Amino acid sequence: MAGSIGKMMSSRTTGLLMASLGAGALATGYMMSDSAAISADEKRKLYPPSADFPDLRKHNNCMASALTPAIYAKLRDKLTPNNWTLDQCIQTGVDNPGHPFIKTVGMVAGDEESYEVFAEIFDPVIKDRHNGYDPRNMKHPTDLDASKLHSGMFDEHYVLSSRVRTGRSIRGLSLPPACSRAERREVERVVIQALAGLKGDLSGRYYSLTEMTDHEQQRLIDEHFLFDKPVSPLLTASGMARDWPDARGIWHNNEKTFLIWVNEEDHTRVISMEKGGNMKRVFERFCRGLKQVEHLIQERGWEFMWNERLGYVLTCPSNLGTGLRAGVHVRLPKLSKDPRFGKILDNLRLQKRGTGGVDTAAVGDTFDISNLDRLGKSEVELVQLVVDGVNYLIECEKRLEKGQDIKVPAPLQQFKK
Ligand code: ADP
Ligand code: MG
Repeated sequence: MAGSIGKMMSSRTTGLLMASLGAGALATGYMMSDSAAISADEKRKLYPPSADFPDLRKHNNCMASALTPAIYAKLRDKLTPNNWTLDQCIQTGVDNPGHPFIKTVGMVAGDEESYEVFAEIFDPVIKDRHNGYDPRNMKHPTDLDASKLHSGMFDEHYVLSSRVRTGRSIRGLSLPPACSRAERREVERVVIQALAGLKGDLSGRYYSLTEMTDHEQQRLIDEHFLFDKPVSPLLTASGMARDWPDARGIWHNNEKTFLIWVNEEDHTRVISMEKGGNMKRVFERFCRGLKQVEHLIQERGWEFMWNERLGYVLTCPSNLGTGLRAGVHVRLPKLSKDPRFGKILDNLRLQKRGTGGVDTAAVGDTFDISNLDRLGKSEVELVQLVVDGVNYLIECEKRLEKGQDIKVPAPLQQFKK
């Protein structure tokens, strides 16, 4: 930018340009000075925050609902220790007014400190997205004791596959929207070195995207093991897809039942999955594997981003807390055509997605049904909520098959408001 401003200054059209920019006295005064270099920070301050406020009138995401000119004015010029700004946090929500299938959050963090420096906007967004959880005065619980889960075996006539995933970030390294290439490669190095220590049924190897053929990559995507190519505008607008596929990859065990994605939306995504309806076994392997991964990372002197108010700190505020999304691919041909389907899901705090992932429409009668919230309840509580909720959906499906009526359950109260 410094270069282009220099060019503007030497141009005979400078006066005209400045007049047409309408930059105001401040900007003109600055540009008339003979300083050639101007930092991004200084450039931002040439204009008042009101001139920079994004046009959010057609938007439907949590950030757009919560961001006021006053909050923006207070936060616009703040920087995190990694020089990350509010505008960088909200860019994805500005560029993506809505999403065809889910209500998005509309902002991401660039580093662990983003959640503190920009708390005045992150906090209301978190409260909105997580069913009233107040990050200022509530504490997030963690419980990875899978033995507490009950009724975790689904009717496999309906449930085709079961999956639990979370994310974990490595403290001290910028998150994917903000990281440098070097930091991203450091994440990959730290993670694959640690994962080499996994033993028994969890042992496996790392497959770098840069070394995979297109065909191999597509097969892993089609089989639901690997994240999609960076086609999602949510991903690209936030900056997470820069340098793709550098330092991205997937680690998995031989059975492909325990998988770790590296440097997609989060530093790591830890996944346990298998065909069929045995959510209990999936969750048991998830807890066991995740504890081992954490131990192996810590042995090398690193730790995960975590605090007691936000739980595990991840790129998207929708994933704070447990980061956990427990879900099934479930066939619901009758219930999904019933007008009450949406309300039943809402009241059970469940989310529906297409089976190809968050950016895909449902094809046929099969849906990805998972917990909507991740924060304020423990891992055990959230997986139990999915187990109970999906069992309820299957009961409804069976009743409709028999021509019986179904009921919309009362809304689950997650927190006392
Ligand atoms: P995530 O929340 O893990 O990022 P996405 O919606 O982006 O999930 O989907 C990522 C991939 O995981 C997709 O290929 C999707 O089909 C697959 N997936 C999600 N849930 C299940 C499930 N219960 N069974 C099989 N595959 C699943
Ligand atoms: Mg995803």
